[in-house]
Amino acid sequence: MEDRGFDLEGRLDALEEATLKRSLSPVDRVAERGYFAEPAGGDLPVLDSAEALVFASNNYLGLTDDQRVQDAARQAAATVGTGAGASRLVTGDTMVHQDLERLLAETKGTERALAFSSGYAANVGTITALEPDVIFSDEYNHASIIDGCRLAGCETIVYDHCDAADLRSKLERRAESADASDESWLIVTDSVFSMDGTVAPLSAICDAAEAFGAWTMVDEAHATGLYANGGGVVQAEGLADRVDVQMGTLSKALASQGGYVAGSAELIECLVNDARAFVFSTGLAPPAAAAASEALHIARHSDVRERLWENATHLRDGLEAMGFEVLGDSQILPVLVGDREDALALADGMRERDIVTPAIRPPTVPEGASRLRVTPIATHEQDDIVACLEAFRAAGEDADLL
Ligand code: PMP
Repeated sequence: MEDRGFDLEGRLDALEEATLKRSLSPVDRVAERGYFAEPAGGDLPVLDSAEALVFASNNYLGLTDDQRVQDAARQAAATVGTGAGASRLVTGDTMVHQDLERLLAETKGTERALAFSSGYAANVGTITALEPDVIFSDEYNHASIIDGCRLAGCETIVYDHCDAADLRSKLERRAESADASDESWLIVTDSVFSMDGTVAPLSAICDAAEAFGAWTMVDEAHATGLYANGGGVVQAEGLADRVDVQMGTLSKALASQGGYVAGSAELIECLVNDARAFVFSTGLAPPAAAAASEALHIARHSDVRERLWENATHLRDGLEAMGFEVLGDSQILPVLVGDREDALALADGMRERDIVTPAIRPPTVPEGASRLRVTPIATHEQDDIVACLEAFRAAGEDADLL
């Protein structure tokens, strides 16, 4: 009989051979300051040290172990329930969701906001619901944007990373085509790019969009809770009235799980009706919604954001002074290494010194651009930053990179 199965072993072997195979590694988290401790058991590979300092999470404000955030989740679980129990349009809508959405809209400077069960669902659901005729997408946009574009089934024109001039010339070229006059166009970009730490030139992108009548959508996954009043780069640059769709996650600085879209009342009403990832998915779990609300409140009304920026500046300056090339212009510090084996050697050297800074390799980043993605968080102490820098010096020398 013919074999019509799937050669999974072959796929895994190929990944292994190319040093591209990943595996899960369970950890017991000792949350304060981002420590991981050795897990209790299980048969998966485990971290080999009793305690390691983590510079690798998106828990940028360190709020996952904040007592107030945990209490908010606990209280929502006790009063509203652990799960929404149904999609929002059936019986899964609660005051906890409404409160979160009001706070998000206020923070983002929009009429309304809508919570999704993940940032991934927010991107896919929103892009498909808009049904654009043409999408203009930054070449480094997140996978969930790319999947949204694919699912939308329309033409997607990719422009060079953070290059508003290239975007404009691609808009111009498209405008010259025969049927462009009645097309709907959506320009979509991350605001802070996760693997490069770059910040999109949003004002120039809005200028280009307005010149051609296109809509703009900005993914603030890595900026929500951090910039301006916690409202992201769009708020920081005063662009809330010029960006049509602001999207983000609750899973990074807001220490929870879920995603959101903020925009006009009309946009949100359309998503409530047409975004399949919203309509046909169970509402966000109430403890997740409550935790995100509390985290956003803390982000807005405390000095926690300043502590993150102090740590990021200290670490970036120290790494650059040592001779490392640190990419981008945000709280994310990608330390460019180049060769994937060198990146793995540097990450291993860091790990031997009890600092977790994983190597990012192809296909996540282009060939020859492997790097360590280093993310300080607000609750790292000065001593932690110094320990990280010392480990980089020693591991960098060991790997012949300094
Ligand atoms: N957009 C960007 C830019 C992201 O980095 C991520 C998460 N890695 C997402 C969207 C998806 O968000 P979530 O994890 O909430 O699904």
